[in-house]
Amino acid sequence: MKIPDSALSEILDKLDPVEIIGEYVQLKKVGNRYWGLCPFHHEKTPSFTVSPDKGVFYCFGCHKGGGLFNFIMDIESVSFVEAVNILAEKAGVDIKTENTDKRDTEKKALEELYNRVAGSFHYLLMNSSPAKMFLKYLLDRGINRDTIKKFKLGYAPSDARWLFGFLTKKNYGKDFLKKSGLFFERNNEFLSLFYNRIIFPILNIHGAVVAFGGRTLKENVSKYINSPETLIFHKKDNLFGIYNAIKDIRQKKEFILVEGYMDVLAMHQAGLINTVAPLGTAFTSSQAARLKRYAGRGIIAFDSDSAGTEATVRAINILEKEGIQTSVANFKEAKDPAEILQKVGEIKLKKIEEYTINSFQYLLNRAAIRHNGKTPEGKSEIAKELFPYIAESDSQVRKDGFLKELSDYLDISYNSILFDFTEWQTKSLRTVRYPAKSKKYVKEENLQEGNAIDLHSNELFLIIAVVLNRD
Ligand SMILES: [Zn+2]
Repeated sequence: MKIPDSALSEILDKLDPVEIIGEYVQLKKVGNRYWGLCPFHHEKTPSFTVSPDKGVFYCFGCHKGGGLFNFIMDIESVSFVEAVNILAEKAGVDIKTENTDKRDTEKKALEELYNRVAGSFHYLLMNSSPAKMFLKYLLDRGINRDTIKKFKLGYAPSDARWLFGFLTKKNYGKDFLKKSGLFFERNNEFLSLFYNRIIFPILNIHGAVVAFGGRTLKENVSKYINSPETLIFHKKDNLFGIYNAIKDIRQKKEFILVEGYMDVLAMHQAGLINTVAPLGTAFTSSQAARLKRYAGRGIIAFDSDSAGTEATVRAINILEKEGIQTSVANFKEAKDPAEILQKVGEIKLKKIEEYTINSFQYLLNRAAIRHNGKTPEGKSEIAKELFPYIAESDSQVRKDGFLKELSDYLDISYNSILFDFTEWQTKSLRTVRYPAKSKKYVKEENLQEGNAIDLHSNELFLIIAVVLNRD
């Protein structure tokens, strides 16, 4: 390993594992260990432990374990070198990673490039005269200058050749720029992917710009384009706004999910800084898994048009599968948070709680519009629309509560609803051979060999007994 061992032990010496891991997991001291809910698998009672003296963590549920570096690698999905960098910074230890890994060097260079370009675009938006109409567009939509600065919004000039020339003058190599995801080649020329657009820099969780979204003001062309996948940008993992939101999400253990860039800006401006958006249209389960590390609850505030409601139902299912309890915000005056900001104002967004209903109610309302709840067929259809959601709930009490609500609503006996639900579940289990949840557990168990640490089973049972008695 190219990072000297002395640097690694210096980092570990300076850091308190309970404090570092405590940033991600709420820990409680029992005996000489700390306990909390495992961030790597879904659970209701704590089986995740930290031993401060040994500086190791171990989960009795999914058997993940290791030292602080392993923890950061797993929880932040980063390489060893990146984990060392993160912890070195926290510890205030200066490490010279000198070309440890070619990939990491290239990643760093790309991040530097994107940050530099973002800085230039931002400067142009705030200062250049061709950008004036773009700045005005943002201000007219109710986005203020502070928000524009906070999100480092920018303007990509209308000359598609400008960026390449600008960067080669700054001594960036042609081959490097070619791979950067910023350009496309036409007739031996490198043209900027983003030109004459408002630029939304996409930051990773550590605050580095890793991609751009660009919006045109022209009609009849696709409104938004995004950077392609690169070494530093993986669309399905990243969320717009995550860097500005992460602290608040961790504190509140709750996030708000909106559809677009402008919605994120609107919500943050209204003080709801735990808001993020998927990139592009579809919200993915890997984005949900990422959010699950920090929060157990999520409010979905997508567009209220028909595409938006469909996306809402999908997002509810994806999130509930990950064990995140969801609710849905339904602003009635306009179609999305950005429009609310422009037409009604921040005040309305701030009162999000007033417009939020639990997902069960949301799905029930939606089903009731589509089917006639007065007829037996309609009742049966409504029930069927709710069953998948109820089945995802991991608490029997919650499940039971939903079934009771459904029976009241449809005016059908609880036993009939329960009977149909059980029948439906058996059928769907037969068709889906591996339900999503158990697949996840299998996957994590497969990982255990590499990560597990030795603990005597006697000690294990003793600890479990202590915890059970306490709770
Ligand atoms: Zn676990």
